[in-house]
Amino acid sequence: MREHPLQKNHIHHTHCDLLFRYAEFLGFGELHVKFDHATGLRAIVAIHNLKRGPAIGGCRLLHYATTDDAIEDAMRLGYMMSLKSAINNLPHGGAKAVLIHPRVIKDREAYFAAFARFLEELNGRYITAVDSGTTEKDMDIIAKYTKYVTCTSADLQDGGPSYFTALGVRRSIEAAVKFKLNRDSLEGVHVAIQGAGHVGYYLAKELHALGARLTMTDTNSAALSRCAQELGVDVCATDKIYDVAADVFAPCALGAVLNLNTIKRLKASIVAGSANNQLAHHHHGITLHERHILYAPDFVINAGGLIYVAALYNHADPLRARQQVNDLYQTSLAIFERSKIENRSTTEVAEAMALEMLR
Ligand code: NAD
Repeated sequence: MREHPLQKNHIHHTHCDLLFRYAEFLGFGELHVKFDHATGLRAIVAIHNLKRGPAIGGCRLLHYATTDDAIEDAMRLGYMMSLKSAINNLPHGGAKAVLIHPRVIKDREAYFAAFARFLEELNGRYITAVDSGTTEKDMDIIAKYTKYVTCTSADLQDGGPSYFTALGVRRSIEAAVKFKLNRDSLEGVHVAIQGAGHVGYYLAKELHALGARLTMTDTNSAALSRCAQELGVDVCATDKIYDVAADVFAPCALGAVLNLNTIKRLKASIVAGSANNQLAHHHHGITLHERHILYAPDFVINAGGLIYVAALYNHADPLRARQQVNDLYQTSLAIFERSKIENRSTTEVAEAMALEMLR
């Protein structure tokens, strides 16, 4: 016999107990869901907290095996956004939106218009932005229906967030080189960059201008050739980047690239790049610390783009945003110093510092 949807036992399938336990563990917060029959929109907005101001964070549109996976992703990433905003002293809380990709999106305009109406209902508690699976064109649609959006086409001129992300990573590399190698300049410092995409390219330009020696790799040969031709960088095969005898390894392509195998292969004594979730497992932050490899935590040093789009959203002076991105030098240094004093990994220290700022 088919179970009636209102039958009490039905709720078992949604794992609500686990959800609330996870929420408590991460210190949440709010969880909002929306289902729109007409467009197939299934949206989850996880708002970690609003202590510092309205929550800001990307909106991803991906396929998920289960709704639980989607909710967990939204909560995990919303928590990370909270830490990212707090440690960079932004006037924002952290949140993430997850849109569960339907089999087909028949009308993308209607789909994102429905999402925009959902944002209106949240009344500014959450400000959305581009993430995996969404583009500035989607943000342009949303902007027609609500003001609670950033990362539109207009925001992406002159390199936009990617340039500022690269600038922040460059500042953090400078701090790491000072701390670990006691060098005041990047002249002659060898950096191996994994990824020649938006951030990788701007990072290479920044480092090249400061006299660094660069080796790069990318699965996209056109992106790699551009860096070789414009900046004269050395290139290598994608699977060889971990073995390059560089001072710094900068992952700017994919997540989860730091695992036991790749960490063992690293010649670099510094890891600092833009990719999100670089550690294949949280514990690898400790592995890097034990191997005396200085790791600049990704969620801290890749915040330049967020700082920039938050400034645009708040109509702040762009020069102030640039200054805030430059401040990633001091923030990184503070993390490295505390990690040394407390003999704890930089990831543990950065998370503790962000949580202190949230309290
Ligand atoms: P992108 O897609 O423009 O560039 C990524 C590059 O990595 C592409 O050129 C791709 O071909 C290359 N790549 C893919 N697989 C590879 C592999 N196995 N080896 C080497 N190269 C490979 O992305 P992006 O905007 O430059 O972002 C890079 C990373 O930084 C991503 O992890 C992203 O989530 C993160 N990030 C970006 C920003 C931003 O402002 N763009 C902000 C925060 C974090």
